[in-house]
Amino acid sequence: MNKQAMKEKLCAAIDARRDDIIAIGTKIFEKPELGYKEHYASSLVQQVFADLGLEYRSEIAITGVRAEMKGRESKAKVAVLGELDAVVCPEHPHADPQTGAAHSCGHNVQVAAMLGVAMALKDTGLMAELDGDVAFMAVPAEEFVELEYRNKLRNEGKIKFLGGKQEFIALGEFDDIDVTMMFHSSNSEKKIGIGGTSNGFIGKLIRYIGKEAHAGGAPHLGVNALNAAMLGLMGIHAQRETFRDSDHIRVHPIITKGGDLVNIVPADVRMETYVRGAEMDAIIDASKKVDRALRAGAEAVGAEVEIVQLPGYLPRYNAEALNDIFYQNAVALVGEDEVARGGHGSGSSDIGDVSALMPTIHPYVGGISGRGHASDYAIADPELAYIVPTKLMAMSLVDLLADGAAGVAGCQADFEPVYTKESYLQMWEELLNS
Ligand SMILES: [Zn+2]
Ligand SMILES: [Zn+2]
Repeated sequence: MNKQAMKEKLCAAIDARRDDIIAIGTKIFEKPELGYKEHYASSLVQQVFADLGLEYRSEIAITGVRAEMKGRESKAKVAVLGELDAVVCPEHPHADPQTGAAHSCGHNVQVAAMLGVAMALKDTGLMAELDGDVAFMAVPAEEFVELEYRNKLRNEGKIKFLGGKQEFIALGEFDDIDVTMMFHSSNSEKKIGIGGTSNGFIGKLIRYIGKEAHAGGAPHLGVNALNAAMLGLMGIHAQRETFRDSDHIRVHPIITKGGDLVNIVPADVRMETYVRGAEMDAIIDASKKVDRALRAGAEAVGAEVEIVQLPGYLPRYNAEALNDIFYQNAVALVGEDEVARGGHGSGSSDIGDVSALMPTIHPYVGGISGRGHASDYAIADPELAYIVPTKLMAMSLVDLLADGAAGVAGCQADFEPVYTKESYLQMWEELLNS
């Protein structure tokens, strides 16, 4: 069968599965869970894999799941990813009342589309025409949140990294993968955006330690850790004019604990922050300035400060041959006028880490209204949000794995990895201990 015929067959199978795909996304949307706690979404993925007759492994990086489909030959292996976790957005109408979690980053759509690709390949029997394998990975914890909780998991030895894909890398789940694909949903003007870059970052957990005292009766006996934190924040603001526009630096701390009781001088104040940027060198430079500012706040009032450096995410790297494959299929699906290429987003994702190791693609696909990570985030166009990306990934799998997996070979020839797995793990270790 030629590639065009295979693509048409897959797209017809995806149309036939439209209701199943959207139903999975809706179920996950209605039961949002935060990273490394996505037990419901994980069990749903396992159920679909079981229904499709696919063997799978679960509890990878706590909640992750992986299944595989074999081609007629195994000349290459492509991973299709979907993220399991939600973000915190208590004002969202579908937020979990207990945790405040809500799917206002659209990861539910990713999981549904990943499973949609598996359904289409199974329903059509087309793996028998492809010369490589496909790995389906439901990955936990893309949103880098609840730093204190995850750092505790880290100290307990349950995870090494705060991001699920990083953890999959460390666990060896990407060792046998040649090319990785996934997408994020978006509300941008054009329907599909391909080949953009994004910021990387370092995370920080900050704790100011002062001395408690009666806030009214004897504040002179205390050391006010909240004042230390405020001065630390002011110090960070004073660095901003030194950040170059081209580095896209973003520093956005929050205070997660501001004191214990209003009539006690705050002695334990905690903050979390990211230091983001477009290149690691710029991130490291900004990170040193932020640490200096934080320490100066403590120095000013005689408090102490503890700064825990956490492995954040890498900037996103592009593989142009892979972008070209997706671009052609995107144009076939939505027309040239609706496909954007390039651009820089100052957000971050752990797909950046995967993209430093192998050809990886992470397009943005529309269908969303409202703001990302906000209460008005909604799926406005289910066809565009769910069905178009499912078809885009399925069609691109044909280009990658048909004809002796020539597409994968082309992507590899075009791509220079930034790190090997070993040098990647070593880089984070050195950075965090520096
Ligand atoms: Zn997000
Ligand atoms: Zn996201």
